[in-house]
Amino acid sequence: MALKMLTKMSFEKSPEYAANADAEDVLKDFRKKFFFPELNGKTALYFTGNSLGLQPVTAKDALLTEIDDWAKFGVEGHFEARNPWYSYHEMFSVGLSIICGALPTEVVAMGSLTNNLHLLMVSFYRPTKERYKIICEKKAFPSDVYALHSQARFHGFQPHEAVIEVAPREGETTIRHEDILDAIHQHSNELALVVFGGVNYFTGQLFDMKSITEAGHEAGAVVGFDLAHAAGNVKLELHRWNVDFAAWCSYKYLNSGPGSVAGIFVHEKHHKNNSLPRFEGWWGTNPDTRFLMSDTFDSMENAGAWQLSNAPVFSMAVHKASLDIFMEAGMDRLIEKSKKLTAYLDFLVKALNDDAGKRVIEIITPENSNERGCQLSLRFPGYGKDLFHQLTKHGIIADWREPNVVRVAPVPLYNSFTDVYGFYTTLKSILNLK
Ligand SMILES: *Cc1c(COP(=O)(O)O)cnc(C)c1O
Repeated sequence: MALKMLTKMSFEKSPEYAANADAEDVLKDFRKKFFFPELNGKTALYFTGNSLGLQPVTAKDALLTEIDDWAKFGVEGHFEARNPWYSYHEMFSVGLSIICGALPTEVVAMGSLTNNLHLLMVSFYRPTKERYKIICEKKAFPSDVYALHSQARFHGFQPHEAVIEVAPREGETTIRHEDILDAIHQHSNELALVVFGGVNYFTGQLFDMKSITEAGHEAGAVVGFDLAHAAGNVKLELHRWNVDFAAWCSYKYLNSGPGSVAGIFVHEKHHKNNSLPRFEGWWGTNPDTRFLMSDTFDSMENAGAWQLSNAPVFSMAVHKASLDIFMEAGMDRLIEKSKKLTAYLDFLVKALNDDAGKRVIEIITPENSNERGCQLSLRFPGYGKDLFHQLTKHGIIADWREPNVVRVAPVPLYNSFTDVYGFYTTLKSILNLK
């Protein structure tokens, strides 16, 4: 069934086909749960859920609930609010565990992504003179590169010597899986840490986290992932894959608003390891004794121990509203639709090349649906940034990444087959194709 759906043969480049696919889509009504921005007085075709997810219609009420309870209860809201703030973060354990394929005790909503990466590296990047190298992907998100380089420097190493980037081969755009494993083996005697993106932000390539984790562990290293572009986008099994740690933000596929609270995963096997160094704060302590204000750190024995501060309730309220929608939709249904919707975009982009009789568009994202999420990264050889401006002028919100990539993400939670078809017809007219 799934296979049949994904055969390219079954796609058609017609508005009727797209409308039919929408009619059959079991998730079609979820679109109504989000606000779409306008562009030039019309509802935009929104393809940047990979950068900033749309606002859930329920977000404002969720936020107002906390604003009102603050007005009504003042400090007593910590215990008296409808969702008591003292234990607010605990409401996220189940939702995040489903998003991540983790135990509820292994995940916690806290902080912000880059901050959390640093906090996690305090525990999990413990270089020695012999073992100090970090392996990551070439063209990782700049903030991750800064985090890794500054960690290496902090421990007294030269960033360019300590941080090894696995790059695509000459003339290729994505990284071969075997090259990642080779790099891990090759550096195994000096390797302290492997940190990869789950999905690379630029190419949309989904990495094989399971086997990267296995290879990293075999080499004697710790393995963590930045899931900024993976959380809420692809199937994750962090617990089963035996990943040591992970971090993500919630404002991309998780639709929780700009700069909203992020999240971390720490594998259960590390929860009782007292020898792990950690930067600590009061929210990492046992909630039963936290307000006794003792000087001794009475550690939680779960990922919550990495929390520093009390919960940022306003941003978390929106995060909760969004996670509730994910729970209703279900990750398996989302991923099934995602594969079909992205394959449809892939099909239509290739149809444009057929229409042109030459390759005007190059898709740098892997073609295999197990090696990508919902984003396709497109290059237009011979066209500059002007083409991207044309897309915007015609009502499409996509994004441009220097030097030459347009990223387009049909998000299964709120994008439709008709949206994808609209992208195709717009691009076709911009490219002057018949
Ligand atoms: C979006 C993104 C970030 C952003 O980090 P913040 O700390 O949330 O500003 C970092 N890393 C990756 C891989 C990203 O995709």
